[in-house]
Formats: sequence, structure tokens, C-alpha cells
Amino acid sequence: MLYKTLAETYEKLSSTTKRLEKIDILAEFLEKVSEKDGELLYLLQGEIYPEYDERKIGISNQLAIKALSKATGTNSKKIIQEWKKIGDLGEVARKLTKTKSQTTLQTHILTTQKVIENLRKLPDLEGKGTVDKKISLITELLTSASSIESIYLMRTLIGDLRIGVQESTIKYAIIKAFFPNEENADEIVQRAIDKSNDITEIFQLARKKKLKELENISLEVGKPIKAMLAQKAASIEQAFEALGKPMAVEYKYDGFRLLIHKNKDKIILFTRRLENVTKQFPEVVDYIKEYIGGESFILDSEAVGFDRKTKQYTGFQAISQRIRRKYDIEKVQDKLPVEVNIFDILYYNGKSQLDKPFEERTQLVRKIITNHPYKIIASKMIITSDEKEVNKFYKEALANNQEGVMLKNLKAEYKPGRRVGNMLKLKPEQRDFDLVITGAEWGSGKRSGWLSSFNLSCKSGKEFLEIGKVGTGISEKETEDNKITFQTLTELLKPHIIAEKGKEVTIKPKVIVSVTYQEIQKSPNYKSGVALRFPRFVALREDKPLAEITTLEDIEAELGSQRKESWKYG
Ligand code: ATP
Repeated sequence: MLYKTLAETYEKLSSTTKRLEKIDILAEFLEKVSEKDGELLYLLQGEIYPEYDERKIGISNQLAIKALSKATGTNSKKIIQEWKKIGDLGEVARKLTKTKSQTTLQTHILTTQKVIENLRKLPDLEGKGTVDKKISLITELLTSASSIESIYLMRTLIGDLRIGVQESTIKYAIIKAFFPNEENADEIVQRAIDKSNDITEIFQLARKKKLKELENISLEVGKPIKAMLAQKAASIEQAFEALGKPMAVEYKYDGFRLLIHKNKDKIILFTRRLENVTKQFPEVVDYIKEYIGGESFILDSEAVGFDRKTKQYTGFQAISQRIRRKYDIEKVQDKLPVEVNIFDILYYNGKSQLDKPFEERTQLVRKIITNHPYKIIASKMIITSDEKEVNKFYKEALANNQEGVMLKNLKAEYKPGRRVGNMLKLKPEQRDFDLVITGAEWGSGKRSGWLSSFNLSCKSGKEFLEIGKVGTGISEKETEDNKITFQTLTELLKPHIIAEKGKEVTIKPKVIVSVTYQEIQKSPNYKSGVALRFPRFVALREDKPLAEITTLEDIEAELGSQRKESWKYG
């Protein structure tokens, strides 16, 4: 397909904010996409491979600017000036390409295949001359691009497509285009997406109108799958009403989610963000080999930290850095040990377990694991119909430094990637929020060279809205207890800067942090209408996907209950 056709579709999609209109535009477009062009579905999400694949385009703004400079014969400084004025490198590319095309004739015609081919070479490049090779691959595309193509090429390169298309928009467009009259298409396509996590695979089956084959998509060991998420329980009583009697009650471990895949000798560990973290946890790989039976399986678990001396559990914060750590693994492994708590099984010896009831799955978990406390165990669980027993277990979990309990319907199936009513969490009032950094300020004095005050945003529909700034809780120097430093945050954020004005920078929403606060207030200063008083940095949430951060609704609900409390006691 001509890249121009895709670029025109992007343009149409950006011209409306209405979801239904976007679905119509996309459905009409998808009908025209042939089998051989199926991979362009990745481009619709700004990617070049399925979401879970680690090969990302990964081009910095600077590199993109250099390539644009080469392709259009414009000085980089001038491009940066324009960028600061317009605030979007895509629009800058459009403007410069327009001027250029008046003077030269375009020689090549871009196809989506050529774009994918060049972009896919980028993450594979290594070693000497990498930067130059990258620039020449991008320049080749930009030189052949018309002005409308250049906007979206540029935005794709820097990972900021701005067309407002989410996975669900593509799902509904697929249904509209290929299964307009099938009643249960929504459920089937959603389940197929949850299991495959590969939008091109889904598209290819859908375009042949094979609903049955979509239904039969199976899990694959080694291919990451999205974890099932929980809803909040209002009370134990309400949980029994929602889940039935008896229900399973487990510790809600305060660690991070680990999905464990094993096929014979090959073991892969994924986070909830579908990141492969096998290298970071060699001891966990050994535990799985030694203490869990079965040829092949996919297990769901939570890894928690503990203190070797006191055997007390430590919180998520203490071990979060292990997810990122790529060197001196043995040292951190020794200092920050984890215990893996297995609580579910999705696949076992060649068969999916998703449709089996939880009681069968949890029995299987308990059958194949030999418990080794402080290494790997089946999660602590009781099955009960008695409120008092649940309460006692809940208190015990809290006394053991865990977050609370998870309450589970014994008859329920496993639904990947969904926040379902069959699994509820019960924990003391929410004390922290998981927010994304969308801006910052360059520091001065002792903090010069680092980003210092960080703008925090919550999610509201498709937007990210600011609710405060945080600077406390972050350390200037490396500390014994491994507090996050300004330097670490700066290094993480710098590649995502999308605009700069004086000391202030705008940052692409990528880096997620947990913060506590003293109070939530109404605030006319923010578009969100709320502000956090005295926010304090607690931890990096590198395990959490952007789609799952705290929403404005969560915060407003918290504000409401805060008021009720103060009315009650104030
Ligand atoms: P929170 O910030 O409260 O952990 P969350 O948004 O990260 O919430 P939820 O879906 O609300 O995630 O809560 C479920 C999380 O709790 C799971 O993602 C998992 O990491 C963790 N967890 C700990 N113990 C269990 C357990 N026994 N069963 C299921 N999930 C558990």
C-alpha cells in the first residue's frame, strides 16, 4: 500500500475527536488493506512489531532532527527554533518538506512496506557507525516523503503519533469492517486480542471473516500475556455478595507481578508491562526449574522482597530497582532477595487453563509446586464463607507487611488484561497514587544538570491531566537504602522530552511513579480541577503500564471520601 494512503487516514483520524467517527474511518480503511500489507496495523499504533516485542523504533528527538536536517537541507538550529515555536516536530517536517518540494522533484514513491522495512532495521543496529546508519535509513524515508507523509513519519519516529487511536478503536473498527452482523463478535475479538496480543494476527484472521479461528487462538508459551486485574471491594460483606460463598482469600502481596513462562528448559519472566525480565532474576529461574513440576506452563505470581536477617517482608519500593538493574545482578540479588508467590496458572502441559474455574486452577498450582519459603511458594490462601475468618486473615496479611487481601470467585475463569469483578482487592484506604511524569524543570545550584521538580499527571479518558509537582522523596546522592536519585530520573526522562521552554520541559508520558500526599484539594490552577498537597515521591513503577495508572475518577472519589471523613471527625 502507498504510505500516502495511510498518512491520509492518519490525517482523517486526527481531524476528529469523536470515537465513533474514528471507528468509521478506520473500518473503511481496513477493508482496503490486503493480506500482504497486514503489518501496517502495527504502524496504526506507532509500532513496528506486536506490543510485547522489545524491538522498538527508539529514535531520540535529536537524531530525528538531524535526519530531517539532512533530508530537507535545513540547518538543525533552525529546525529546533521552529520546533520550539510550533511544538510538534511532525508539523515542522510538513512545513520544511512543503518548501523543499517546491524546489525539487520527489523521486521515490513510499510504500508502507518500505517504511516498515527501514524502521525495523533501526533497533537491530549495533556497534560502530550506528548513529550514521540510523540517520541514513531515516533520511532515505524523509527524502521520499511528501509533506503529509513527513508529518506522520516524523511523529512515528519520535513515538508521538497523535491520532487518538487506542487498541479498542482498532478492535471496533475490525468488528465493523468484518463482522458487522455477528452478535458476540465483541467478546470473541476481545478475547482473541487478550490471548494473542498481536493486532496483525487478529486482523489477518478477521479479514478472512474467520470468527471461529479467532475463537480458537491459543496461548503460546513464551509470548507474553496481559495479567488479569482486580476491582476494589467495598467491604467483606459486599465481596461475598459479588463472589458467592465460599470464596478464596489470598494475601495481597506488596511486590510486583511476574508472569512465568516455561517450555522444557526455557524459562521466561515477564512483568505486567509485558517486559522480559528473565536476566534480572536468575535465582527465580532456578527456583522454577527445581521446585515446580511440569513440561510447560504459564504461571501468574507476585514477587515480594524480604530482609534476609529478620525474614520480614519489605514493600515494593525496596525491590523495585531489581526490575531495571542490568549489571551486578548477583550483588543486588544477594542484597534484595525476592520470594515468588504463585497464585494462578494459565497454561499447563500443552493446554490452556483460562476457561477452567479458579478452584481447579489453584488446586493445580498447589499440586505442581513444592513450597520453599523465601524462595517460591503457592500464595497463602484460605477458602471460607465466614466474614470473621476473612477479617482475621486480612489483619494477618497486614501484620506481615502485605497490602491486604485478594478475594476470588472460585468458579471464575481467567480473563487476561481485564479488570474483572471476579477478583476483588481489599486493602486499607488508598494512600498513594501511580502517576505519570509529563513535565519537569531543569534544576539549579546543587541540582543543576538534572531535572528537578516533576509535573505529575493522572489519566482522564485519553488525556493526561496534571495534578501536582513533586521534588521531595528523591535523593541528590546515591544512598545506602537505594533511594531514587535526580540523576536516575533525569536519565530515564531525558529521551522523552518533547519540548523545552526556558527551564521547563514537556515530557512524553512514559515514566510512572508512585507518590503519597497529605491531602487532595480542589484547584482552579489545573485543568483536572484537583491538586495534591505535599506530594512525596515513593517509588518508580516500572512494572506498571500507562493504561493502568490512577484516573481522575479515582482521585475525585478519594477527594469525596476525604471530605466525608473530615465532616465525620472534623
Ligand atoms: P495496587 O496499586 O493496589 O497494587 P494495581 O492497580 O497495581 O493496584 P490491581 O489490579 O488493583 O493492581 O491489584 C492487583 C495486583 O495485586 C496484581 O496486579 C498483583 O500484582 C497484586 N497481587 C498481590 N497478591 C496477589 C494475589 N494473591 N492475587 C492476585 N494479585 C495479587
